[in-house]
Amino acid sequence: MADIRFGPSTLGPVNESIENLKEYHKRGFRTCEIAFTYGVYIKDKEKAKEIGKVAKELGIKLSIHAPYYVNLNSKEKEKIESSKKRILDCCEIGHELGAEDIVFHAGFYSGMKPEEAYENIKREIIDLQKTIKEKGFQVNLCPEIMGKKNVFGSIDDISKLAKETGCHFCIDFAHTLARYNEHKFKELIKAFPQNKWHCHFSGIEYSEEKGERKHKQTEKEEWQNVLSHIKNLDKEISIVSEAPDPWSDAEVALSLYNN
Ligand SMILES: [Zn+2]
Repeated sequence: MADIRFGPSTLGPVNESIENLKEYHKRGFRTCEIAFTYGVYIKDKEKAKEIGKVAKELGIKLSIHAPYYVNLNSKEKEKIESSKKRILDCCEIGHELGAEDIVFHAGFYSGMKPEEAYENIKREIIDLQKTIKEKGFQVNLCPEIMGKKNVFGSIDDISKLAKETGCHFCIDFAHTLARYNEHKFKELIKAFPQNKWHCHFSGIEYSEEKGERKHKQTEKEEWQNVLSHIKNLDKEISIVSEAPDPWSDAEVALSLYNN
């Protein structure tokens, strides 16, 4: 039986974060992803340590979602460097927060063949890992499975990266549905034999052509479907709700799971 942690994709503003963690604990949440999607907004290291300490005491596993503006396969060298800086900024504050999993969207194919994009992104991930090690940050890089077909991050892309670089990964069940028109549970289980899974889920409105369109509240049946496929896996799973109202969505998921 899987050990599944549920929680929302937000910690809220810095001055509300401790209160929010206490509220999450009351609701039974055991994971929380800090959304640095529009910038690394926790800057004060002492505050980060304090937040991390409270989260740890409450048994809430923190993770980070890095800024959206990341492309490790840009044709422009400066864009790759600024992307790496954004990821490393997350790693640095993540280390203070005790947030080990650093989730990011690895990049685009940028008109290249998928194999070429793969090799470029792999090289940058290995370089990032070297810096992380030198700086002593206790974090894992987690490139995410992406919903749009023209974006780097297929199941194969991400599982191969995990296998060849030892990086961790983020499985987004809404993204697999958008990318493949099905969740691909069997393929995921085969592609990711690792004991720890970091996951995202939300309802999704999508167009066949372009893949993912936007997140929406998750239908109960969708949660039930996902949970039925992961609940018996012998794994530690964190599943972060990315629905527009992630508190109530995570609560629905948790109650379905408990019943
Ligand atoms: Zn994401």
